[in-house]
Amino acid sequence: MTHLTIIGAGPAGLATAYELFRQDRLQDFDVDIYEMDRAVGGIAKTLQRNGYRFDLGGHRFYTKFPEIDAFYRSFLGAEMLTRSRLSRIYYENKFYDYPLSASNALGNLGLRRSSLIVLSWLARQFKRHKEEKTFDQWVSNRFGDKLFKTFFKSYTEKVWGIPTSELSADWAAQRIQNFDLLKAMINAVFKINPGSRTIITNFHYPKYGPGMLYERMTDLLVARGVRVHLNYEVMSFEVADGTVSGVTVRDNATNTLHSRKVDCVVSTMPLDKLVLRLSPPESVKAQVERLKFRNFISVNLIVESNPFPDQWIYVHDPAVRVGRIQNFRNWSPYMVKEGEDATPIAMEYFASEGDALWTMSDHDLISLGKDEIVRIGLAKPEHIREGFVQRVPNAYPVYNFNYQRSLEVAKEFVGSFRNLHLGGRGGLFRYNNQDHSILTGFYVARNILAGHEEHDVWSVNEQKEYIEEK
Ligand SMILES: Cc1cc2nc3c(=O)[nH]c(=O)nc-3n(C[C@H](O)[C@H](O)[C@H](O)COP(=O)(O)OP(=O)(O)OC[C@H]3O[C@@H](n4cnc5c(N)ncnc54)[C@H](O)[C@@H]3O)c2cc1C
Repeated sequence: MTHLTIIGAGPAGLATAYELFRQDRLQDFDVDIYEMDRAVGGIAKTLQRNGYRFDLGGHRFYTKFPEIDAFYRSFLGAEMLTRSRLSRIYYENKFYDYPLSASNALGNLGLRRSSLIVLSWLARQFKRHKEEKTFDQWVSNRFGDKLFKTFFKSYTEKVWGIPTSELSADWAAQRIQNFDLLKAMINAVFKINPGSRTIITNFHYPKYGPGMLYERMTDLLVARGVRVHLNYEVMSFEVADGTVSGVTVRDNATNTLHSRKVDCVVSTMPLDKLVLRLSPPESVKAQVERLKFRNFISVNLIVESNPFPDQWIYVHDPAVRVGRIQNFRNWSPYMVKEGEDATPIAMEYFASEGDALWTMSDHDLISLGKDEIVRIGLAKPEHIREGFVQRVPNAYPVYNFNYQRSLEVAKEFVGSFRNLHLGGRGGLFRYNNQDHSILTGFYVARNILAGHEEHDVWSVNEQKEYIEEK
């Protein structure tokens, strides 16, 4: 019997155990999943408050992998809803269609500003940035400087907390569709639909939010003998001769430490924290400390009736600190308490460890959220019933200039432990969506069963252009 420890009960960690079950090999393993949170699902869990459900960020179920699509359906069946997408951008007191439509943008921006955008794009075509190392170089080469400043700069800086000139072009290439303004204008004028590779207008979403998938996976695994320890944090490791021989976990409820022998470890915890808890040499430590994550704060409000039609609104306007606003009733009507007419709303803020937002009290964050939704004009103060805050550390791996070198060092160091496997988003320091994370979990399980690296977890979500967003 192999003693397998999985760190994290998010999509990737649960997928590893599930794949062992699916391959009918669970009986060969004694599996402990340690999860430092009180719930399963990681960043894709669903919160509940007084009968209302809140997602963390709004999780579209979109995948290019038929295997993952079949997996989603096997768990959710008819409870996977098909939703028609509506989202807009809020900027300077106006709402813009998203994706941008020529007539709406022109109407909002006015002829003068729109002409300047086109001229600035033309100017950039004659004088393109030769290198595309930074986010702003990548975007302004494709959209022109003026459009970049209007629609990309302030929002991107809210999300990442660093100037776009310090953000690697990798992130833009992974998240923004390659764009040709000239073609877009011709298409708009002649009403040509470019067809393939456009924004996803329909998406799938589980009836009760993404958490229901991970709760169902957990129920299945627990029924088959997998031990899922909630509120247990993996704190340190015992290592010898290139193997991890033990883990020490802290029971957060009692603040007690417990050690356990292991034959094999799967980690989906943030890569930098893993490396630092493996007592690396100073040179590795110094590099890995440069890997940074951006945190996420969801200020959740329950608001009377349904105040706006979008699933979410991007808030590009620099006059408010909120980055995005979610309306979970429009994601699924089942997110609302049965028989009531109110809406679970999330005001989403992006923060870094120790900064003013991250250290703000819950009380002040709720006041900020209420104040900003009222200022934007999406709710009246008397219609906001209550609020609570959910903080998500390590939500976004930051692709700054150091990250690739630091990642290589971390990879090499972790690779020196023959029974330690990595998967997931934070675990691989990759901007993975649920489907990528689940696939890495499956790959890890297959590699453990094969006894060698048959599948390369680093190849998942590797292509530069992951066309989800336009
Ligand atoms: C705002 C936002 C919106 C998103 N929207 C989408 C979307 O629309 N569609 C989509 O498919 N994906 C989306 N994603 C991505 C999706 O949330 C992730 O891909 C997925 O949750 C990653 O799963 P994971 O298991 O790799 O990591 P996580 O979900 O981070 O799970 C890792 C788990 O490990 C636990 N852990 C960490 N350290 C320890 C430790 N030392 N001991 C024990 N446990 C530990 C954590 O508590 C966590 O539960 C979004 C992400 C964010 C932040």
